[in-house]
Amino acid sequence: MKFSAAFTFLLLAGTTNAFVNKQFTSPSFPGCTTSTELAARKPFMTGNWKLNPQTKAEAVDLARGIVDSIGEDSPSDVGLFVPFPFLETVQNIAGDKLIVGAEMITPEMKGAFTGGVSPTMLKSIGIEWALAGHSERRTINGESDEDINAQCKLLVENDMNVVLCIGETLEEFEKSLVDAVCEIQLKKGLEGISADQMSAVTIAYEPVWAIGTGKVATPEIAQSVHESIRQILDKMYGSSVSESTRILYGGSVSPDSVDGLLAQPDIDGGLVGGASLDATSFGRIINFETVDVMA
Ligand code: PEP
Repeated sequence: MKFSAAFTFLLLAGTTNAFVNKQFTSPSFPGCTTSTELAARKPFMTGNWKLNPQTKAEAVDLARGIVDSIGEDSPSDVGLFVPFPFLETVQNIAGDKLIVGAEMITPEMKGAFTGGVSPTMLKSIGIEWALAGHSERRTINGESDEDINAQCKLLVENDMNVVLCIGETLEEFEKSLVDAVCEIQLKKGLEGISADQMSAVTIAYEPVWAIGTGKVATPEIAQSVHESIRQILDKMYGSSVSESTRILYGGSVSPDSVDGLLAQPDIDGGLVGGASLDATSFGRIINFETVDVMA
């Protein structure tokens, strides 16, 4: 995918309304509005608390507020990736209303790895999900594609689920390397993972320039990358995997941008940082509204 300078400007101006959203309506299945619905990929809204909040009491309040916003007929499956010290507490509050996961694992099962956390440890407290490859871990902690692949493999081999995060930096974006970067990170991150194991994998496309910056990708740009990611998955694993894998968008998702993003055919949910620290905002994201923009 190539972007012009004007396109880049619109994107970096942080506007979510630079383009009119066009909701996809399937001519063959008029009742279905997006291919997410067609392929029965229920939207998945996940929070990533990162190094927040600072106390267990605050984590309890936040988790309760989020759980309260999930209705019986929630349009989304909901997940929260939270710091290790809060996992069990948040899990107890969540019950079966949402998935609770770890923000990372160590790609080792046991031994001399000070500070490490293994899949077995997480499973022993009932945690079956983890993030891998978040850009903050790639850049701040220097995790390579090989490290991230080791984490993904260890998780799925231990019957856990992983959200593999991929995405380009601003420099890569400006050099029109979006698709190339995503393809490399996807292929390296998933190396050795079989088609059968892909049912335990969710992909999150997170352009690095959009994370924590307030500069959300426009729905059209995000859709274009998600479509390419699905095509790459199709080449790697075939259509039944590519059509059933949920691809989330992450990068400054907010109550204002969520509806337009979720109206796109290949955007199956969100990985949400800042806005997941506010129960009202995240509640609005979980309960996104279907946009009818064809009129
Ligand atoms: C993230 O943490 O993955 C993220 C996308 O953060 P934010 O929503 O704050 O940009």
